[in-house]
Formats: sequence, structure tokens, C-alpha cells
Amino acid sequence: MSWVGRALWMVTSALALAACSAANVQPEFAPTVNFAATPKPTVTPWIGPLPDVQSKVPVTVVTAVGPPDFRCGVEFLASNVHVSASCSFEESENSAVGPMMCHIERDTCEFGRLANVSASGILFFREEPPPFDDEDSLMHPAMVPPLLRLNELLIKEWGGAVQLMVTDAYDSHGDHDLAQPSLNKKYSQHFEGRSIDLVTWPVDVAKYPKLCALAFAAGYDWVHNEVTHCHASIKADTLCGVCKR
Ligand SMILES: [Zn+2]
Repeated sequence: MSWVGRALWMVTSALALAACSAANVQPEFAPTVNFAATPKPTVTPWIGPLPDVQSKVPVTVVTAVGPPDFRCGVEFLASNVHVSASCSFEESENSAVGPMMCHIERDTCEFGRLANVSASGILFFREEPPPFDDEDSLMHPAMVPPLLRLNELLIKEWGGAVQLMVTDAYDSHGDHDLAQPSLNKKYSQHFEGRSIDLVTWPVDVAKYPKLCALAFAAGYDWVHNEVTHCHASIKADTLCGVCKR
């Protein structure tokens, strides 16, 4: 691991432990995602340096992006504060986006319905060993439009100096709810791909109040500034049992 990789690991391993966050087999098919609501951006190739750990990820810079719609007037989301789509700072995640319905297991039909956004130009931490190192870019298809929009907003906010990094998305094996020792009883919307953990690269926690606000503006239904990262969730029909309906 390079020094950049080690530095990132040191910072983000703390994130992962505090995190609310992870599959190698490619989805059985590429889920259909409706991007019609997101204006097609003009992209130009990224010419800046990339961290070694992410050097294989193609990166694009988006220009000509419209301004963010700061829903509920939230332009900054302070540390340890969360907000829901109903503009409540009290509403729980379960109330705002619905409870976790199951643990989606790898190599199942539901697993195949997760969207893989690895070629989006966004950075993914991928600190977990194979075959779990693909899980940071796997998520419920409804998570994709706000993630791409957030990437646009972030680039517009900070230019090419700052990039969006996903440290956790779908999780198959229990990196969340660490207080619960039993894997089967662990509880988090990450287990069905409806939550995501976001940081800036380079890591700069001072930017997270704005990053979390931009995530909320991008369309996530519940966003929590967890100090070490922004945790964001979506309200969408669960993939749990979708293959049996
Ligand atoms: Zn989380």
C-alpha cells in the first residue's frame, strides 16, 4: 500500500469503525436507472493527480451544473445533526426512509439488482479484501441519481481540488451496527443498499457540514452529519424479496 493509501486507510478506518457501512461477482444484469431527471452534464477529462488506491477509476469533471436547491433552507448541516425530507431535525431515519427490511446476501437475485456505479467518476474507498471490495460502489438503484447529482454539486462547489469519495454503501457482512455481535441481528439500511457514507478527498472534516447539505440538496431523504462522514439514506421500494414478487 502506498503512503497515500496508508494515510487514507488511517483516516478512513476510523470512519469505518464509527460508520453506520459493503459484494465481487458482478450484478447479473445492469439495473435500469432513469437519469432523465438529471440534466446531462458536459464533461471534460480529469487531468489532476489521483490517489494510488483509486488510480484505475476514471474520473471526470462536470461543468455547467445548475445551482443546488437547498431543501428546507439547509445550507450547512452541523456535526451530529440529521435532517429528513420533511424538513425535520428530529425525525428518525426509520421514519424518514422506512425500516431495514432484510440483509441482502451476496450472489442472490436481490444482490443482482443492486446498481454498480464504479464507472461514474466518483472515488470509492474499497478498503475491504476481495471479494468484498466491490461493495462500496453497489447500491439500490434509487441511490444513483442523487449520488451523481451530488458529485456534480461538489465539483461546482469546490472545483477539481476536492473529489467525492464513497467509503461505504451496500454491506453484506456487518461493518455496521458494530454494537450488535450477532450478524443476523445487525441493523442498518446499508444492508439493503439504501444508505451510503460519504467523505471528501482529500479528507477534510471541516467541509462535511457543506457536503452533508449538498447531499440533502441532491435528493437523499435523510442525511446525518456523523462528524467523520456524511451518512445518507433513500426512501425507496426495498429490493428485499423483489425476485419473489
Ligand atoms: Zn452509514
